[in-house]
Amino acid sequence: GEALRLDGVRKIYGVEGNRVVALDGVSLSLPAGSFTAVMGPSGSGKSTLLQCAAGLDRPTEGRVFVDGAELSGGGEAALTRFRRERIGFVFQQFNLLPTLDVMQNTVLPLKLAGRKVDRALARDVLGRVGLGDRLDHLPAELSGGQQQRVAIARALVTRPRVVFADEPTGALDTRSARAVLELLRGSVRTFGQTVVMVTHDPVAASFADSVLYLADGRIVGHQAAPTAETVA
Ligand code: ADP
Ligand code: ADP
Repeated sequence: GEALRLDGVRKIYGVEGNRVVALDGVSLSLPAGSFTAVMGPSGSGKSTLLQCAAGLDRPTEGRVFVDGAELSGGGEAALTRFRRERIGFVFQQFNLLPTLDVMQNTVLPLKLAGRKVDRALARDVLGRVGLGDRLDHLPAELSGGQQQRVAIARALVTRPRVVFADEPTGALDTRSARAVLELLRGSVRTFGQTVVMVTHDPVAASFADSVLYLADGRIVGHQAAPTAETVA
């Protein structure tokens, strides 16, 4: 089935004199179980696309469907609930809560979604990201790579249908970046999740199935991802 659909999405920031058209009529359809990289120059609208598709921001015009349901269908509370149930988001700067340990950060989305705080599940996900022995560590006690892996565990723990990641490897060294990309690809292969990832890095993009190219708020290409050999 279709995991994500955008129909004629426009996003305009600002008013009158300083209007910025960040997205200028974006339409796309991504199948469930796909891993898509979004690339394009700085300012081309990549982050805005992710924010609108994930329901973190509202398009000025157009419609967004996740898992067949229209994102803007209900009010603010309905949107928040929908997001917590079906969407995971990984930020470049991790966004972990500094006073919560690794386990507490990871189970937070379950709490917010009003679901059972399943520590065994969280331990399993943290084990898969290689943090099984760090459950009671605070974010400040972890390396950048480890913090990003906690952020990914947190995004995956609710088993969302669609996971959005905005430059998840931007702040990481090569080895940590690889671990994060393999995790994202693994969640697609293993759980049939759909991943949409903004990246500047052709090596990171080679982990995806396809690459969507943006320029000036429009999609200017969508093609098979380059292979690791091509970009090496
Ligand atoms: P990218 O992620 O490709 O760098 P963005 O989506 O961040 O692009 O930005 C697209 C355009 O929208 C840019 O011209 C940017 O300056 C503008 N923009 C992004 N966010 C805002 C905002 N909150 N207010 C005003 N303009 C914004
Ligand atoms: P990763 O590959 O996950 O980024 P590193 O090789 O950078 O891990 O770090 C190795 C070890 O050093 C980690 O297990 C971590 O405990 C510790 N470490 C790295 N950076 C920091 C930091 N800023 N604060 C505390 N511990 C750190």
